[in-house]
Amino acid sequence: PDVVSRIAAGEVVLRPANALKELIENSLDAGATSIKVEVKDGGMKYLQIVDNGCGIKKEDLDLVCERHATSKLESLDDLQSVSTYGFRGEALSSISLISNVSIVTKTAEERCGYKVSYCEGKMKDKPIPCAANQGTAITVENLFYNVPLRQKALKNLFEEHKRVQDVVGRYAVHNASVGFSLKKYGQNHLYINSMNNTSTKDVIGLIFDTNIARNLLEKEGSDDTLQFKYKILATSLIYSAKQMIFLLFINHRLVKSEGLQKEIAELYNIYLPPKSYPFVYISLEMPSANVDVNVHPRKETVFYLHEEYINKKILTAIQQLVLGKDAYQTYK
Ligand code: ADP
Ligand code: MG
Repeated sequence: PDVVSRIAAGEVVLRPANALKELIENSLDAGATSIKVEVKDGGMKYLQIVDNGCGIKKEDLDLVCERHATSKLESLDDLQSVSTYGFRGEALSSISLISNVSIVTKTAEERCGYKVSYCEGKMKDKPIPCAANQGTAITVENLFYNVPLRQKALKNLFEEHKRVQDVVGRYAVHNASVGFSLKKYGQNHLYINSMNNTSTKDVIGLIFDTNIARNLLEKEGSDDTLQFKYKILATSLIYSAKQMIFLLFINHRLVKSEGLQKEIAELYNIYLPPKSYPFVYISLEMPSANVDVNVHPRKETVFYLHEEYINKKILTAIQQLVLGKDAYQTYK
């Protein structure tokens, strides 16, 4: 791989937390119910994720770090969403261009596990049989070892660790029935939310603040014409934080929408006293062909069809939530 593709990889993965987000999504795609993360130096030195998902077939191991290698295109609908969803099969290949990746994995069919290491997207050696539980362990070491500029920019390991923690926490909230744990290298697990039917509220209490959890209002809704549905958990007007906490998942991907966040902040602004802010979690699902996460290489900023209409629906729902249905009539 040439310098250009390495630089491109450095654009997709700007910091350890970006890499981790991709790895967590892969584990969730693999059906994992347990995801264990361990990091050293904010993920720069060492970033490991162990899941109990379906595992990777032995014969696929030489491909997973190749560009555009994906096992997730099965239907025509998938093909259509490729053009919009973008970056299919780019995550592992990008990560392996700028770090040392090794994988231990076992599928249900295989009698033993296999271990492989990669260098610049290529398998270093044939898979070595080893003992393993079903699932996949991916270890990313020396992230950005060959991208000195990124290394220089990421000197604050405390900040990187915080971002890693934030990504794990947010995915744990969105996947309340999946057990997540985060461990600093050589230390005990920082927090674990068990798989025992924890509710989203419980996880929010665990990861953010029990006070938030106590003041959450919940609303679900859908729209038949535009085929979208939403679930909102938002704090009532009694609760106030020092800054707004906003979690947005579209089709189960953690994304950013500054527009929507701003509109919600402004809505709360009308009712909350100065310098108080809400906690808002939104899960939005819509046909994947309507979502465009392709605009930004990090896939964070999202654009979707009928954005104005959908945002308005969400704002109305939040307003109804915090004011109560009857009160809403007078504020309309
Ligand atoms: P994508 O997720 O878009 O398919 P990735 O580069 O993220 O592309 O992953 C490449 C492929 O590697 C996936 O399609 C999947 O087959 C396999 N893979 C990666 N991580 C896991 C995992 N934790 N469990 C099972 N398969 C995985
Ligand atoms: Mg992926």
